[in-house]
Amino acid sequence: MISKVLIANRGEIALRVLRACKELGIATVAVHSTADADAMHVRLADESVCIGPPPSRESYLNIHQIVAACEITGADAVHPGYGFLSENAKFAEILDAHGITFIGPTAEHIRIMGDKITAKKTAEALGIPVVPGSDGEVKPDNAMQVARKIGFPVLIKATAGGGGRGMKVAKTEADLEEAVSTARAEALAAFGNDAVYMEKYLGKPRHIEIQVVGDGEGNAIHLGERDCSLQRRHQKVWEEANSPALNVEQRMKIGQICADAMRKLKYRGAGTVEFLYENGEFYFIEMNTRLQVEHPITEAITGIDLVHEQIRVASGAGLSVTQDEVVFSGHAIECRINAEDPRTFVPSPGTITHFHAPGGLGVRVDSGAYQGYRIPPYYDSLIGKLIVHGRTRVECMMRLRRVLDEFVIDGIKTTLPLFQDLIGNQDIANGDYDIHWLETYLARASE
Ligand code: ADP
Repeated sequence: MISKVLIANRGEIALRVLRACKELGIATVAVHSTADADAMHVRLADESVCIGPPPSRESYLNIHQIVAACEITGADAVHPGYGFLSENAKFAEILDAHGITFIGPTAEHIRIMGDKITAKKTAEALGIPVVPGSDGEVKPDNAMQVARKIGFPVLIKATAGGGGRGMKVAKTEADLEEAVSTARAEALAAFGNDAVYMEKYLGKPRHIEIQVVGDGEGNAIHLGERDCSLQRRHQKVWEEANSPALNVEQRMKIGQICADAMRKLKYRGAGTVEFLYENGEFYFIEMNTRLQVEHPITEAITGIDLVHEQIRVASGAGLSVTQDEVVFSGHAIECRINAEDPRTFVPSPGTITHFHAPGGLGVRVDSGAYQGYRIPPYYDSLIGKLIVHGRTRVECMMRLRRVLDEFVIDGIKTTLPLFQDLIGNQDIANGDYDIHWLETYLARASE
């Protein structure tokens, strides 16, 4: 059994994990950089340890410091949240070597899914539909041959990719050489690895992902999908569950395929199988072996606490539900609230002079922000997530409109006004958007 969890993260996700631990009667240890000494997750944890200066490399990514903090406090498990060390196989191995439970998948599964070519091959072998593409790595000398076989337009992607970096489209044969060389250069700069592969470029897909949870012993379930098509620079902005584009049969079919795959893999923990969806077909792009930012919308429509499940399976207690017991109810939307200018998206760190979170039926605010909180300039700009649930999509949208009016964050700029714009848009009301919709909308708005 797990009795004390060290939360190796910060911000809203550290708070999220802490809440689940408290509910399960598990003691909590917060770690923080010197810039985060006043953070809410530090205040609410049973114990806290300062692990270094503000740069992530020296604190939240510093494995030695985190292991030392476990030793000092006697934490017997670590929850990595998302980002930072959450998909670092070496970290999972080091914890294992110290007899500390990593609340997540095995190092082997993290490694398989962390390399995109291996991930794609594995997914295909497990029966998951994948985007047509190269068999493995693409080099400048075989790129043209591979691209002709796939058919233009093609997308060059970094094997070690993440955050949309090292990705280049070649519309025609004339673009290919440059696309391959810039993608390789970008991949080398961002990941220290210039390996790239090639995929068919889909023109108007939606981004639809399936939430899975496995117990590591061959039992796994899916919790339906999230539609994360509304993105800016490959960063998700607004997410919904269910997807406005799928019906029940489609949902259960793709969900089942993913759950079966996780069963075969003996996957342990929460994971997300990401797809592009176009003309009724699903195409696997990657799998994230961790909790995602947008997990609360799945919790809203299933009533299942994903962090509870993660802790259960990590401690060998198994899943709390079977697939038959999962009931999908209503519709949920999440808005990511960033401390950014809503027009230029330039980060806006500073002190929050006034903070009032909305409430009422079907409203959840996950945020470490409070009145007087000073947002440090060192980390990503997500300061909170607004999650709204309703019996139908229409009810959910009505509630969201009301809730956005109620939310007050003064002293800094936030992306709240962007959502107020979106809620009034007809395409959004109709659920009629693809992965390019938001960028096109923002480009028009700034003209
Ligand atoms: P990363 O790990 O860098 O985020 P992903 O493989 O998850 O990369 O892709 C990120 C985004 O890039 C997707 O959500 C989608 O918007 C776009 N994308 C990825 N693959 C394709 C493709 N084959 N065709 C069109 N767009 C794609």
